Amino acid sequence: MSSFDIIIIGAGPSGCIAAITAARHNYKTLLITSKQKFEPNNLLPASESIHPACHTMLTKLGLAHCIEKSFRGTYSCIQTGTNVAGFFEQKLPNGLHINRKVFDEELLAYANKCGVKILFDEVVDFTYEHNSSRISGITTSCGLRYTAFYTIDASGRKRLGGRKMKWQEKHFSPPLGVWTGTAESDCAQYKATTTHFIPNEDGWLWLAPEANGLVSWTKLSRNSKDPPFEITGLKKIQRTKFANMRWRIFRPVCTEGLILTGDAAGIIDPAAGRGILNGIISGVLALEAIPKTKTNPVREAIYLFDYDSWFLNTYMSCVKQLSKYYRDHNINLM
Ligand SMILES: Cc1cc2nc3c(=O)[nH]c(=O)nc-3n(C[C@H](O)[C@H](O)[C@H](O)COP(=O)(O)OP(=O)(O)OC[C@H]3O[C@@H](n4cnc5c(N)ncnc54)[C@H](O)[C@@H]3O)c2cc1C
Repeated sequence: MSSFDIIIIGAGPSGCIAAITAARHNYKTLLITSKQKFEPNNLLPASESIHPACHTMLTKLGLAHCIEKSFRGTYSCIQTGTNVAGFFEQKLPNGLHINRKVFDEELLAYANKCGVKILFDEVVDFTYEHNSSRISGITTSCGLRYTAFYTIDASGRKRLGGRKMKWQEKHFSPPLGVWTGTAESDCAQYKATTTHFIPNEDGWLWLAPEANGLVSWTKLSRNSKDPPFEITGLKKIQRTKFANMRWRIFRPVCTEGLILTGDAAGIIDPAAGRGILNGIISGVLALEAIPKTKTNPVREAIYLFDYDSWFLNTYMSCVKQLSKYYRDHNINLM
């Protein structure tokens, strides 16, 4: 059994940022992640569109190269019907489309360079301190055991930590299906710097045209159980992916020895534009609570309360904003 200061489960944006932040605090850090996502393949996945603030944050964290290497396109405005809203009006830089596989690989490679030990395995359970409810580490599918002062659960939609702790999961929407894929763009119809949000009664379609003549599409629906056959006349290519995007958050999102970050703590559908941004911010903030606890252990409950309150408040403000947006656009999802 090996011992670390910090163990992180999952190498998505939230886990990698937490690992890099931990290494910068000089913590002995172990990042354990499933291998599947990092296996080589020739498929070009649909791009994900990141909020302009992601670029600002990653630049400040010295990680701008992760965006540059995964760059697939840029967008300066979002068209909804005839209404075009530009980021320039809010004095924000442009939004970007990125290849998530490349982005995550770059983050993981950087974490490794910072001294984080990377292990490809599946975490299956948590261990407890003797005679206490404090989490003291994890066990993996290979039967390996590791201990740490803190474990960060960044396992994304698998939500390992909250499920194992049997924490209550609060739902704020019915089950919502999201499909995503890539199509050939109709360059005459879709300008490469304008994304399109196309609402309908049952959900919406997001079209993100890229400079390379492709368009990534994401479709959300409450009722349909089938993938969309036709994407507004565009020729579909590549594989279609599905995910359940029911809005949900665990209560609480931390306890002594364990902090949940990113999608492992709370999920809202991609129309909020917050998935990757929230992963990055929560990865940084989780690591703020730990050094404070190390130097001042008697105040641990207060630092955990601060993190839990921040996560809940941010999440609830997204729920409020997106619910209003759906109501304003007659999207009948709730
Ligand atoms: C179809 C779709 C479209 C989206 N589009 C956008 C978008 O355009 N913009 C945006 O900002 N967000 C978008 N999102 C949301 C965004 O992808 C997520 O919010 C983001 O990936 C969350 O990051 P994370 O680090 O929390 O989790 P993830 O990125 O999911 O990473 C979790 C990692 O943990 C690993 N893992 C899981 N369980 C274990 C285990 N037991 N042991 C070891 N490793 C484990 C997984 O393999 C994975 O590598 C989209 C989501 C979907 C499904």
